[in-house]
Amino acid sequence: MTLSHAEYKAIADSLKPNGQAFIDGQFCDAADGDKFETVNPATGQVLATVAHCKAADVDRAVVAARRVFNAGTWSRAEPEERKEVLLKVAQLVREHTDELAVLESLDTGKTITDCLEEIGGEVPKFFQWYAELADKVFGKIAPTGPGAMALITREPAGVAGAVLPWNFPLVMAAWKIAPSLAVGCSAVIKPAEQTPLSTIRLAELMCEAGVPDGVINVVPGFGETAGAAIGLHNDIDTVSFTGSTEVGRMFMRYSGDSNLKGVGLEMGGKSPFIVLDDARITDDLIEHAAMSAFWNGGQNCSANMRQLVAAPLVEEFTARIGERVKAFKLGDPLNPATDIGSMITRDHKKMVMSYIQSGVDDGARMVTGGDSDLPGYFIEPTIFQDVTPNMKIAREEIFGPVLGIMPMQTAEDALAVASDTDYGLHATVFTQDIDRALHMARSLPCGTVSVNGFSEGDIKTPFGGYKQSGSMARDNGTEALEQYLQTKTIWINVADA
Ligand code: NAD
Repeated sequence: MTLSHAEYKAIADSLKPNGQAFIDGQFCDAADGDKFETVNPATGQVLATVAHCKAADVDRAVVAARRVFNAGTWSRAEPEERKEVLLKVAQLVREHTDELAVLESLDTGKTITDCLEEIGGEVPKFFQWYAELADKVFGKIAPTGPGAMALITREPAGVAGAVLPWNFPLVMAAWKIAPSLAVGCSAVIKPAEQTPLSTIRLAELMCEAGVPDGVINVVPGFGETAGAAIGLHNDIDTVSFTGSTEVGRMFMRYSGDSNLKGVGLEMGGKSPFIVLDDARITDDLIEHAAMSAFWNGGQNCSANMRQLVAAPLVEEFTARIGERVKAFKLGDPLNPATDIGSMITRDHKKMVMSYIQSGVDDGARMVTGGDSDLPGYFIEPTIFQDVTPNMKIAREEIFGPVLGIMPMQTAEDALAVASDTDYGLHATVFTQDIDRALHMARSLPCGTVSVNGFSEGDIKTPFGGYKQSGSMARDNGTEALEQYLQTKTIWINVADA
C-alpha cells in the first residue's frame, strides 16, 4: 500500500541511519576512526556520517570472511539451510520495505515510487530466487570408460568481493550478494560512497535472518581506498564490479597485480532505441521510449539515449515524446506524485549540464529540458533532435536525462549507427515484422535486445554487456552463479571388481 507524502516524510524524520561499517556481525568504525558525510541530493543536507574504510578495514573484513568460509559454517552447510536463511532475508526486506525505500530515496534522490518497487518488489525476489537455487547446483559425471569415474563438481569460489554503483544501491547489492551467498561464498561489499546506507542496513537484517557472522561484511568508503583494496586483496577469490568502464578496467589491472582473482564486470552503455519504418507510433511505444531514457533520471546503465527513428516517422515521434516528457513531474523524491528525482551529486549535475551545453554548441536542437530551478541537484528531462552520430552527446555515456533523436534512412543504417560504439549493453527495436525484429536482435552486438518494449529482462534472464560494457560475466539468471563457483574434476580410477 502506498503511503502519503506526509507519511513518507514522517518515516524520514524518524530514521536514524547508521553509517558504520559492518564486519564480522558487528557495527564498527574504520580502524583509523576516519569518517565522511553522505548527503541527501534533493536538499543538499547531510544525512549521516559514514565510516571511511580503507585497506586495513577491508583486510579485517576479508579475515572474518575467510575464517567463516574455512570453518564451513555457511560454505559447507546443507544447501537447504542456506535456502531457509536467504528466504528469511527476503521476508525481512519485505517487512522493512517502507523504511529501506525511504532511506534509499533520501540517500540517492530517487523517487519513492521507484524505491518501493525496487526494494519491495525486486530485492526480495532476488533473494528468494537464489535461495531456491541453493539446492539445485548440480555437478556432472563425464563419460569415461569402465576404468575410471570422473566427477565434475562445483564449489564456492571462497571470499567474494563486490564494488557497487550509486544508481540502484540495494538492487545492485542484491544482484551480487544473493547468488554469491546461495552457493556458499562469504562476501565483502563496498557500496558507492554516495549511497552506503541501505546496504549497511541490509547487512544488519541479513544477520537477523541468520546469516552467520563474517559471511556478509560491508565496508563503506571511496574507490581509491576501499575499492582498490578489494581489487588488490590477495585473499579475495573473485570480485564482481558494477560501475563505469574506466573503473572496470582498473579491476582487471588490480587482478593482474595481485592474486589473479576472478573479475566480473558490468559497466556503462550508450544504448539505442530503434524505431523501424513499419512501426506504429502508439502511446505504448512513446511510453517505452520515454521510460527507456528517463527512468531513474537517466542514471541507468541501460538507458536508451540514442533513439534512431525511421525518417518518415521522426517528426511525429519527436512531437509525441516531447509532449510526454514535458508531463514528467520533477520534485521532492518522497512525494509519490513525483516522476523524476534529483541527480546524485552537485558535481554530477554539473557534468550532465556540460553535455547539454555541448549538444547546443554542436548544433543539435533542444526540444525540451535544460536546467531546473528547484533547490537540490535537479535537471529537467532533456531531448535533442537533429543529433548526428558523431556528436559528443551521441557517443559518450552521459548518465543523466539527455536523450538524442536521430533520423535514419534505412534499417541497415540504424543497425550500423547502433553498433558503432564501444559499448554493448542493451538495445530496443520496434517493428511489426518478426523477420526484421529477429534480424536486428541477432545482429546487434549487445547483451540484451528487447523487442516492441523496453525491458532489461528479469531475475531469470542474464544481464551484462558485450564489448566494453562488460566482461564475459553475467548478473542475474543461473548465469550469475558462475561468478561465484569453481569447477573441480575428481578423477577416480576404478579397479576391476
Ligand atoms: P564508478 O565506476 O565511478 O563507481 C562504481 C564503484 O567503483 C563505486 O563503488 C566507487 O567507489 C568504485 N570506484 C571508483 N573508483 C575506483 C577505483 N579507482 N578503484 C576501485 N574502485 C573504485 O561508477 P558510478 O558513477 O558509481 O556508476 C555509474 C556507472 O555505472 C555508469 O557507467 C553506469 O553505466 C554503470 N552501471 C552499470 C550497470 C550494469 O549492470 N552494467 C548498472 C549500473 C551502473
